[in-house]
Amino acid sequence: MRVVRETPLSLTVELGELSVTMLLDGETSMPADCLRGPEGFALAPDDLVEGCLPLPVRAFLVRGQAGCLLIDAGAGDAWHNGLGRLPEALAEAGMAPQEVDIVALSHSHVDHLSGLIDAEGGLAFPNAERVFVATEELMAVRAEPRMAPVLPRLIPLEQGDGPISGVVAVNAPGHSPGHMAFLVEGRLLIWGDLVHHPVQFAHPQVTWKFDEDPDQARTTRARLFHSVVEEGWLVAGAHLPHPGIGRLNRDGTVYAFHPVSR
Ligand SMILES: [Zn+2]
Repeated sequence: MRVVRETPLSLTVELGELSVTMLLDGETSMPADCLRGPEGFALAPDDLVEGCLPLPVRAFLVRGQAGCLLIDAGAGDAWHNGLGRLPEALAEAGMAPQEVDIVALSHSHVDHLSGLIDAEGGLAFPNAERVFVATEELMAVRAEPRMAPVLPRLIPLEQGDGPISGVVAVNAPGHSPGHMAFLVEGRLLIWGDLVHHPVQFAHPQVTWKFDEDPDQARTTRARLFHSVVEEGWLVAGAHLPHPGIGRLNRDGTVYAFHPVSR
């Protein structure tokens, strides 16, 4: 793995036949009580910025001979101010929205889904004729009126499916019922919302207010952290600190995230 390009809103790594580009949709913040710890858990002053939890929102582009796959689409103009910069990030990475062939969503929450629709209500990625969404979450997407233009393009996604050659969907339920991670080239796990704040590396039992099944989210995090370390995979996540791609180390029950750099 090597970092081949870096801009303020993007970072591209090469992995064998494929490249993976982190695209920053923007940064927002959330109230400190969004993190739910066990008895005795407390945040340190350094965990907060002006009393809030920093929350970057990222999407990932996987490119290779087989095509150009966008994993998650950012928040568009549907959530907090400061988000919806995905088109800018794509341009910085040297890509046009028309070049995205396929989309796959880690799950159907607003900060991953809404960027599929542009400011005029049309398709932000008009040539992405297939939009993979976990079977369990198709109803949630269909229930969102703004998503009407996307509905004819939806394709159910199941564990083991490969949206493009070299990328495999991995069940990671808990944050949402059909939450999916994606293993790229057998060595980089793009894990969606497995982690919302870096404190969850040292305290993997800490959950997030919007985890739909917090116990299951905790179990999934423990299982995937274990796999990542055992297999030596790189990791990438929608809400990880800059640049959203790195390695995981384990010391006893405590994990640490080490961002990639040039
Ligand atoms: Zn999210």
